[in-house]
Amino acid sequence: MAKYAMFTLQNYLKLKQCTKCNSNLVRYYCSASKQSEHYDIVISGGGMIGSTLACTLGKNTKLSNKRILLLESGKPIKWTAKEKYSNRVSALNQNTYNLLSQIGAWKHISAVRSAPVQDMQVWDAISDAVITFNRDTSSKVVAHIVENGLLLDAIAKELSQLTNVHIRNEVKINKYSFPQTSAQEVTIELENGEVFTCNLLLGCDGFNSQVRQSMGVTFVSWKYDQKAIVATLKFSEPVKNVTAWQRFLPTGPIALLPLSENYSSLVWCTSPDLADYTLKLNEEQFVNEVNEALWKVYTSNSIIEESTKTFNKFLEWFQLPTSNRQQLPPKIVEVDKESIASFPLGFGHATRYIAEGVVLVGDAAHRVHPLAGQGVNLGFGDVATLNELLGEAAYSGRELGHISDLREYETRRQRHNVPTMIAIDGLHKLYNTDFLPVVLLRSFGLQFTNAINPLKMAFIDHAGK
Ligand SMILES: Cc1cc2nc3c(=O)[nH]c(=O)nc-3n(C[C@H](O)[C@H](O)[C@H](O)COP(=O)(O)OP(=O)(O)OC[C@H]3O[C@@H](n4cnc5c(N)ncnc54)[C@H](O)[C@@H]3O)c2cc1C
Repeated sequence: MAKYAMFTLQNYLKLKQCTKCNSNLVRYYCSASKQSEHYDIVISGGGMIGSTLACTLGKNTKLSNKRILLLESGKPIKWTAKEKYSNRVSALNQNTYNLLSQIGAWKHISAVRSAPVQDMQVWDAISDAVITFNRDTSSKVVAHIVENGLLLDAIAKELSQLTNVHIRNEVKINKYSFPQTSAQEVTIELENGEVFTCNLLLGCDGFNSQVRQSMGVTFVSWKYDQKAIVATLKFSEPVKNVTAWQRFLPTGPIALLPLSENYSSLVWCTSPDLADYTLKLNEEQFVNEVNEALWKVYTSNSIIEESTKTFNKFLEWFQLPTSNRQQLPPKIVEVDKESIASFPLGFGHATRYIAEGVVLVGDAAHRVHPLAGQGVNLGFGDVATLNELLGEAAYSGRELGHISDLREYETRRQRHNVPTMIAIDGLHKLYNTDFLPVVLLRSFGLQFTNAINPLKMAFIDHAGK
């Protein structure tokens, strides 16, 4: 009877003697005996970067024999183009546009909507020093404004056609185990007991990356004393909306990104107190605050005024263009109340992007202030480089994730990302003060850069990579 009861209980609980450790444990809870499924590549995190990476690698003909698994903790994306614009948009540079076109995702985006940015105006509220990009050669598109949800939907459409990429949503990862030598595999245990192994794990799980934490990599990070308020804004009348506007206020930058002739997207980085206050306002008060932030004339310091005028004369003397061509952005009349939200801002950089069998990509490796609209573009740059290197390695017969290829990825990307991140953080610090010598210095810098076209083009070129 006792034997029968034990047998029934074992059967009920699926108790089984583990073949590896000989313990009488429920199969799911004995890690040594867990049934695992093997993939060549596992991508952890299916945000803009993880999804695009899965699609790019899945379409790489040199990697066509590789099985790829994409693990995402969120639900599958369901995006329908509504009349209302989403409050989460990204300014995508030319290289990102090229990557998305190459993998077939751009056609889905352009079939719905995106807005080209043909020129940019950045100006300092305190000194009125201004820099414009592309205003005279307005045929060239410097960026494309795309809703993040639409981008994810476009990638999902392409992913659904790939038989070598498997997607699992709503997964919770319990643990990653990394190999000590190249002969071993990475193990990923889910909270529901499922186990996956792979030759190469790609951590695309955002700035709080669990992959990065499990690797034990140092993440140099700090919080900015700012929050980003986002919202969809409507103009008083239709305009040729091809300009990205950014004004540096003493409390942080406010930017308008074009969506259509009637709408722009707001990214307003300001002190947490001011952000919390602004979020509590009604629509009319919110619109007034935005218009004031864009238009308010600050009482000018006579030293700054005289100095910038003198600097302009100096530039004119060399027959260089001067910064007196500031225009004002269109007046806002409406805000979509539901679109108002805020996000904390921070900086972060992983000192290593790689370890044996693991690579960090996108925000998992680097997080920047949104003032330059570069965060996700840096991640797309990582995707393009990793895709190129893994493809080349496979073509040359090297094993997937050979440490020499991973090191090359880390070197190439850090060489690009680190100077960009330092420049963005430097700009944030430079504009986060009204200390007179710093205001003078940054105003001269803006006037000088604006006057020297090759310098401006160099900025645009670097931002496009
Ligand atoms: C206000 C604002 C404006 C911005 N504007 C721009 C812009 O104009 N241009 C630009 O280039 N960048 C911009 N950025 C930055 C950009 O949004 C980020 O760089 C980008 O979202 C990073 O993408 P990612 O896929 O690396 O990470 P994330 O977007 O964070 O995605 C990570 C994904 O991983 C999933 N995940 C997390 N943990 C796990 C886990 N343990 N298991 C499985 N899945 C997991 C998450 O659900 C998520 O889907 C902006 C940022 C902010 C805050």
